[in-house]
Amino acid sequence: VQVRVLKEHAEGERRVAATPETVKKLIALGAQVAIEPGAGSAAGFPDDSYLQVGATLAEGALADAALVLCVQAPEVSRIRQIAGGATLVGLLQPEADPLRAEALRAPERQVFPLERLPRTTRAQAMDVLSSQAGMAGYKAALIAAELAPRFFPMLTTAAGTIRPSKVLVVGAGVAGLQAIATARRLGAQVEGFDVRPETREQIESLGAKFLDLGVSAAGEGGYARALTDEERAEQQRRLADHLRGVDVVVCTAAVPGRPAPKILTDVMVAGMKPGSVIVDLAAETGGNCALTRPGETVVEGGVTIAGPLNLASMGAVHASEMFARNVLNFVSLFVREGQVTFDWEDELLAKTRWG
Ligand code: NAD
Repeated sequence: VQVRVLKEHAEGERRVAATPETVKKLIALGAQVAIEPGAGSAAGFPDDSYLQVGATLAEGALADAALVLCVQAPEVSRIRQIAGGATLVGLLQPEADPLRAEALRAPERQVFPLERLPRTTRAQAMDVLSSQAGMAGYKAALIAAELAPRFFPMLTTAAGTIRPSKVLVVGAGVAGLQAIATARRLGAQVEGFDVRPETREQIESLGAKFLDLGVSAAGEGGYARALTDEERAEQQRRLADHLRGVDVVVCTAAVPGRPAPKILTDVMVAGMKPGSVIVDLAAETGGNCALTRPGETVVEGGVTIAGPLNLASMGAVHASEMFARNVLNFVSLFVREGQVTFDWEDELLAKTRWG
């Protein structure tokens, strides 16, 4: 099987879907691997490092590739160059763009948008949403520390004692827990909340405090469900009071397949202390804060609100290492001895497949 590793085209995308380590393993599975020139350079993997493990360089025509690996979906014009019988693996988000969906669809083609992978125990080693969310949560805490006009840790100095910053993390999934762990390591006093009751123990095990807002909304597959109007009102009433004493908020709340839940209203932000900081990781899907502008940092009433996008790409080296291992583990489900064979009884293949 001829594998092509694409050079990402999306603006600001520094990650790559295969590293020299995973290319070596793909070759061991019987694949021939061609890397597009410069595909790994922004992630710290120069072309040479791939050549050394037995890959070749290839540019342009995609017609001979039987398996195409990418982080984000390629441009529509490039998708159209891919052979009808080829297999595509990556965060393809076919529903995000009707033209892309149309270009992706071909009768003999298998399309595996990795965001569709079921989140079962067996799938964990292939779960790019988790591995990339870990980096995003880590960076979100660091951005908050950088923007804040305060120290995170407590300091005892000759100029007096500085009290530690109070950090609240909204949503304690993969990204939220990593943000909590990172803010803790920086010495902040950290609290977190989520609507899934099992997160209490997870938050506490990181040395943070669980903030109980009296709302419990576990949904299917370990995810949250959307709140009812009454539940949301209750959550917001309790949260508004609490926010007055908080220095930093990191927002990570999401509900699969829906816009990010709006949790912080403009009134709540207006009640926060000047100099407070909100980093809204949910900006990608609209933001948890009503004032978030995706991709921008704004100041409203003395409160700085950042809506950074694609945070995983900021940590491109480790994010790519994890992404590439996830992809390798997924591809290992159907590449054996150089051949591609799909076992559609395997729910990981059957459920991830699109179209
Ligand atoms: P996510 O990105 O969909 O959501 C982030 C968090 O926001 C979730 O914890 C969710 O409960 C929370 N949330 C949603 N609405 C909220 C609201 N109104 N207020 C506060 N919080 C709200 O989730 P994720 O981080 O991708 O994963 C969430 C769950 O999936 C976790 O239980 C995780 O352990 C599980 N998971 C399992 C596997 C696996 O077994 N393979 C892999 C990844 C994640």
